[in-house]
Amino acid sequence: MTVINSHRKAKALKQGSRRPAKDLCSECGLCDTYYIHYVKEACAFINQQITELETIAHGRSRDLNNENDLYFGVHQEMMSAKKIEPIEGAQWTGIVSTIACEMLTQGLVEGVVCVQNSDEDRFQPKPIIATTTEEILGAKVNKPTLSPNLSVLEQIEQSGMKRLLVIGVGCQIQALRAVEDKLGLEKLYVLGTPCVDNVTRAGLQKFLETTSKSPDTVVAYEFMQDFRVHFKHEDGSVEKVPFFGLKTNQLKDVFAPSCMTCFDYVNSLADLVVGYMGAPFGWQWIVVRNDIGREMLDLVKNQLHTQPVISRGDRTQAVQNSIPAYDQGVTLPMWAAKLMGVVIEKVGPKGLEYARFSIDSHFTRNYLYVKRNYPEKLKDHVPEYAEKIVSQYKLPD
Ligand SMILES: Cc1cc2nc3c(=O)[nH]c(=O)nc-3n(C[C@H](O)[C@H](O)[C@H](O)COP(=O)(O)OP(=O)(O)OC[C@H]3O[C@@H](n4cnc5c(N)ncnc54)[C@H](O)[C@@H]3O)c2cc1C
Repeated sequence: MTVINSHRKAKALKQGSRRPAKDLCSECGLCDTYYIHYVKEACAFINQQITELETIAHGRSRDLNNENDLYFGVHQEMMSAKKIEPIEGAQWTGIVSTIACEMLTQGLVEGVVCVQNSDEDRFQPKPIIATTTEEILGAKVNKPTLSPNLSVLEQIEQSGMKRLLVIGVGCQIQALRAVEDKLGLEKLYVLGTPCVDNVTRAGLQKFLETTSKSPDTVVAYEFMQDFRVHFKHEDGSVEKVPFFGLKTNQLKDVFAPSCMTCFDYVNSLADLVVGYMGAPFGWQWIVVRNDIGREMLDLVKNQLHTQPVISRGDRTQAVQNSIPAYDQGVTLPMWAAKLMGVVIEKVGPKGLEYARFSIDSHFTRNYLYVKRNYPEKLKDHVPEYAEKIVSQYKLPD
């Protein structure tokens, strides 16, 4: 008992105080609780331990000689899916919110950790432990900002809940897995989303102001498989900006340093992952990592259209070309960016190959960032699978 509870004596950090991961803190929320006691082992940016935690969560780590494992992590199955009746206002079709609601109403869990937004600001994250379907649905749609989801961990222990679902992105889930056996739970379910290029609230403002024609009316956005950023506005209209037209020179420092050093795009430690990038445009992408993930997906299968994943095209040249272009902050004139977007959408990578394109582009960029800014961390911080992916490309110094 004393061992399990020793963390309760630790003191959470006050808001705004400097975190142990310093500039690399992703504000996952762990340090807002007495679980800060474990931060040196648990923090994804202090102690990268994906391989070890994969073995604990899934019974094995990824097979580096199997291309799908190498890229997408341990899995039993992948598929494309969409809700037969999409949830209005969800990020995509609302598969994540639907699974959470079913788990709660069917009594598999007593609470769901998810993130709503503050009353004043639709993009300011407000993590909660939802105990009603209304609260879960109140958390639908991405808050495209660093979110302290784990800040509610103390409340879990205090509430006496024994069965819990946590929804979160990779850095939150890595820290969660590291303290999972300290939470006093009988059963934990983890529903993850992929995540990349997240920003602080101030960074988000800069991104919106630099990229959208109407930053104040944006309700959601996504970097889509058609090589454009889609901004959804309050009036329902969708503004599309080609990736190649982004003002890279102004946006280079907008992404959080944690995200520039992250190699867990696909949320390796969740039981079930729901994203979009491995699916055809308009569909969501599901990765079932283990039996717990399968149990969660089975609850909603009758509410989904599904189809097998596909993979078409060859990403490698496009990735190689994008490396120096990003590095030098090249921005094309909008007409050229639009043209390039149209061409690449027609002939470019599709399905899993698009997901590999996105992973390769981000891993090469992040590898260079770590090498240049945190050379002392390079060896321990970059997982072996990411090194293997990056080694396919020629990088500048
Ligand atoms: C910052 C971010 C970046 C992403 N980037 C990619 C990507 O590059 N490729 C890809 O395939 N997928 C990405 N995703 C996942 C994708 O955008 C959708 O969230 C996912 O497909 C689920 O859609 P849905 O309609 O089922 O979700 P909804 O039913 O709308 O539910 C969304 C859920 O996300 C949770 N959530 C919202 N914001 C955050 C946050 N900041 N941190 C943790 N949890 C949050 C909410 O609690 C809610 O339960 C990203 C998600 C986030 C949050």
